[in-house]
Amino acid sequence: MKALRVRVTGIVQGVGFRPFVYRIAGRYGVTGWVLNAGDGVHLHAEAAEAQLDEFLAALEREAPAAAQIASIALEPAEREGHATFAIRESVRAAPPVTRISPDLAVCAACVRELFAPTDRRAAYPYINCTDCGPRYGIILDLPYDRPNTTMRAWELCAACRREYDDPADRRYHAQPVACAKCGPTYVLYESAGPAGGETARGTEAIARAAALLRAGAIVAVKGIGGYHLACDAANAAAVLALRERKFRKERPFALMVRDLATAHALVELGSEEEALLTSTARPIVLARAKRTFEGVAPDNDDLGVVLAYAPVQHLLFAADAPPVLVLTSANRSSEPIAYTDDDAFASLAGIADAFLAGERPIARRLDDSVVRAGPQGVAVLRRARGLAPQAVATLTVTAPVLALGADLKNAIALSVGGAVFVSQHVGDLDHFAAREAFEETVHDLCRMYALDPSELIVAHDLHPGYHSMQFAQSLPARLHVGVQHHRAHVASVLAERAAWEAEVVGFAFDGTGYGDDGTIWGGEVFRGSLARGFERVAHLRPALLPGGDAAARFPVQAAAGFLHALAADDTFARAPFLFPERYAQAATLARSGLRAFATTSVGRLFDTVAALAGFTREQTFEGQAATWLEHLARRSVPVAAYLFPFEDRQFDYRPLLAAVLADRIAGRPVAQIAYAFHAALAAGIVAASETFAAERVVASGGVFQNALLVELLHAALGERLWLNLRVPTNDGGICLGQAALAVSPPARA
Ligand code: ZN
Ligand code: ZN
Ligand code: FE
Repeated sequence: MKALRVRVTGIVQGVGFRPFVYRIAGRYGVTGWVLNAGDGVHLHAEAAEAQLDEFLAALEREAPAAAQIASIALEPAEREGHATFAIRESVRAAPPVTRISPDLAVCAACVRELFAPTDRRAAYPYINCTDCGPRYGIILDLPYDRPNTTMRAWELCAACRREYDDPADRRYHAQPVACAKCGPTYVLYESAGPAGGETARGTEAIARAAALLRAGAIVAVKGIGGYHLACDAANAAAVLALRERKFRKERPFALMVRDLATAHALVELGSEEEALLTSTARPIVLARAKRTFEGVAPDNDDLGVVLAYAPVQHLLFAADAPPVLVLTSANRSSEPIAYTDDDAFASLAGIADAFLAGERPIARRLDDSVVRAGPQGVAVLRRARGLAPQAVATLTVTAPVLALGADLKNAIALSVGGAVFVSQHVGDLDHFAAREAFEETVHDLCRMYALDPSELIVAHDLHPGYHSMQFAQSLPARLHVGVQHHRAHVASVLAERAAWEAEVVGFAFDGTGYGDDGTIWGGEVFRGSLARGFERVAHLRPALLPGGDAAARFPVQAAAGFLHALAADDTFARAPFLFPERYAQAATLARSGLRAFATTSVGRLFDTVAALAGFTREQTFEGQAATWLEHLARRSVPVAAYLFPFEDRQFDYRPLLAAVLADRIAGRPVAQIAYAFHAALAAGIVAASETFAAERVVASGGVFQNALLVELLHAALGERLWLNLRVPTNDGGICLGQAALAVSPPARA
């Protein structure tokens, strides 16, 4: 007989790991115990050597689907003489580095029970088991046990208790387990909200909500990480009403579909997209649209599609809700998603016609994640439900680091023992409510891992106007480290790949980031490595930005600044149709030099070309003109690139813009103009990479959300190109790069 102590780390709590250990212990005649602790799952195993070996092999080989083992540490132990194998109560040890499981979509076995008329949980909207259900969305504290979840208010009935206590049962120690008899349910409120009293409960509430959706109503539905606003995607009037009430003019809506077959009818799905759609994370998957819905995704050839992941969503479809629903985070435009009932009722009054409110509280807000299959694999464009708070990288330095990200598409990162956990998407910090959400997220993540800000290295952006930067400085950190925005972009790609030493040429192209010299950067080229730091070696030729940051909203304003460098006044006289009123005012500003700022932003270069191609109105969401231009280009046959020379460590946009102007005057199809521009950018990046003899080319920043640009770059550079995959290439990934650079001394200097 031998005895072993084993510690398993990774995502091993809340995924049925202890019952799994219990089962294999029984199979191999192993005695001892298993328990959840703050630093992983601990177990004590006693058996003959051969049995122990088989037990350990099975531990690795047969781990539950939702578990992700990071390490298994073994240590010989004294025999304790156990007669059986037991699951022990959890102990809380400090520091808790156990990874918290993200939320899991309801599993196939539970869906079968949901629709089996004789099942105890038939039609029960909170059905779950150890293989599925909410996790991060209900966890209030570690370790993950029922009293530490938002289910703590519900006492298990005798039948649920039997399942919960039976190691052979699928619901053994499933913390959110419940049934219609003992658990929470859904309640429908119409018109006046809760003040008007509930209209229906349970099955009846869901049936009525489905009927309201059929009739064209906008219904707020509580999900896993917050409320959604839903309406019939095929009902143009309902979609328009949703846009008007939400003050969301043109930004695409995601669609929730009844089943995979419906998804196939809407978008082109390869095997990779299909796997994403049906994965336990259930993200919104961007794919090329096969059909359009009026008002859902204007000027966009893609659709974002998601399958039902919460039981209540399956029940709505089964109750004959329209097969394709617009499903969007419940909030007023650009505010954080509402996740408490009170917040939903207050902030959605006047937007939602009815509330399908769930009684189970949500522990923290989590939007839906957004992913896309690209030439190098799956790229995450928004990390949230189903993915957060997974670790995305491992640093070589174990000092705890809190990285606060940027003010747009904010997300934060916490490095604990070297594992970098990235928070859910927080959003744009320009609203008061978003700043509150941001601070809540910081405190929540620190509390989860029992870290006090005063012990931390706090990394932040350099922009003095950023709320995240000001907040960072208000924290009593061990050390504050400012990390330049575009270096953080490049570093985020390398941190994902644990490429500490790799010498790269990095292209950080985006709309706005605070530069070393205090100007607005966004077309930056760096050389270096994570270990050595990054030197800015080239950039876009500076242009003027009349009106500063406000120019980001008006493509023609950016155009006036960029075209100022052309001194082509006669062209303007020949093509007045290209230049609306606002252009003349901005051009005057640019000429006078008053309130005109220098920028190297490729985002603004995109806006300029978009303006010349016809996007002369105001942008109603960030990146709109660039997205419009991309989708225009995707309709073109491949055409030759414009000239975009890389000389004297600068990309010169002047020949390119002169050619765009000439082509517009000559009446060339704008789709071709847009394509030639994309090809020019790709060729410019390739040329600069050659100049610096780069073996590795890193590309990061919001500009690289552009699928066409990435395709062209990948075609030219192949595996030499490194992109963000696990964190967004936009500012949502900045926090990871900040964390990596904050512990890299040369980069800090
Ligand atoms: Zn299940
Ligand atoms: Zn029950
Ligand atoms: Fe950026």
